[in-house]
Amino acid sequence: MSVIDLRSDTVTQPSAAMREAMLAAETGDDVYGEDPTVILLERRLAADLGFSAGMFVPSGTMSNLLALMAHCERGDEYIVGQQAHTYKYEGGGAAVLGSIQPQPIEMEADGTLDLARVEAAIKPDNFHFARSRLLALENTMHGKVLPLDYLAAARDFSHRHGLALHLDGARLYNAAVKLGCDACEITRHFDTVSVCLSKGLGAPVGSVLCGSEAFIAKARRLRKMVGGGMRQAGILAAAGLYALEHNIGRLADDHRRALQLGDELAALGFAVEPVQTNMVYVEMGEKAAALTAFCAQRGIRLTSATRLRLVTHMDLHDEHLPVVVNAFAEFAENMGRC
Ligand SMILES: *Cc1c(COP(=O)(O)O)cnc(C)c1O
Repeated sequence: MSVIDLRSDTVTQPSAAMREAMLAAETGDDVYGEDPTVILLERRLAADLGFSAGMFVPSGTMSNLLALMAHCERGDEYIVGQQAHTYKYEGGGAAVLGSIQPQPIEMEADGTLDLARVEAAIKPDNFHFARSRLLALENTMHGKVLPLDYLAAARDFSHRHGLALHLDGARLYNAAVKLGCDACEITRHFDTVSVCLSKGLGAPVGSVLCGSEAFIAKARRLRKMVGGGMRQAGILAAAGLYALEHNIGRLADDHRRALQLGDELAALGFAVEPVQTNMVYVEMGEKAAALTAFCAQRGIRLTSATRLRLVTHMDLHDEHLPVVVNAFAEFAENMGRC
């Protein structure tokens, strides 16, 4: 039985062509700064996003951690959404490893942080308080695209208050494709940006952190410190370069499939949230675990959160959609009967 995996867009297998690009990669020792393919990837992405420097790292978690640590000293704080990845899903790394205090803020339904709320959380310059240093946003946020005019407002706000502005752009290109703009139209509002190559872009490993030369130099020291210096990493960077060349435009297919899946599940009576990019959220309440078990028997892998997240990706094709929709339909019928 072939498996349909909707848990995340991280589950994709590197394609044959991507593996060939990896096999052919020119490599060197990247800790010495001598891996030509890593350098190419870092320069390419930094240039695409409008920054002077980039740094290849093993994961998005490390990329965000190094960004937070490079922006904030011990006893500084960063302001962040309550549901944001850097706050909620990264093991508290900024606090554990950077002695950086998070100041989480309740998020708005559209994935933004209300700037009046952020303003109220900024600490006065007084020795009683941590020093508010940084505002961190996420785009896409739970599959939602932050509006460009909001980003412009967040940039003006941050600069007015002496905060740096970081973007966790794990799915930056999903946002750009949805908006139909160049990614730099999004990133130009930020001081630093982290991008994942291993999500919808389909690379097996890797993220890139972009910022100024001075910022990246500082982050490079921190990368070594946390053990993220890799040697012949060009073999991985080649996958990232391949992904940037070939896998951005096709994100529109993931978005189209997510929209179709959302529409068809809604038509069956499921409580589907509006779909923007490659994520379909379905409120399953107490039936979540039963649905997950039901689908598992049919070769469909889901997480079992009550607010169920279905993620479309490169390895999910049109012919998989009716299989998923039929399983949900069958589940709904069974549930109706009991
Ligand atoms: C996946 C993800 C990360 C972290 O990436 P890893 O490579 O899994 O460490 C950061 N932010 C967001 C929004 C993500 O989805």
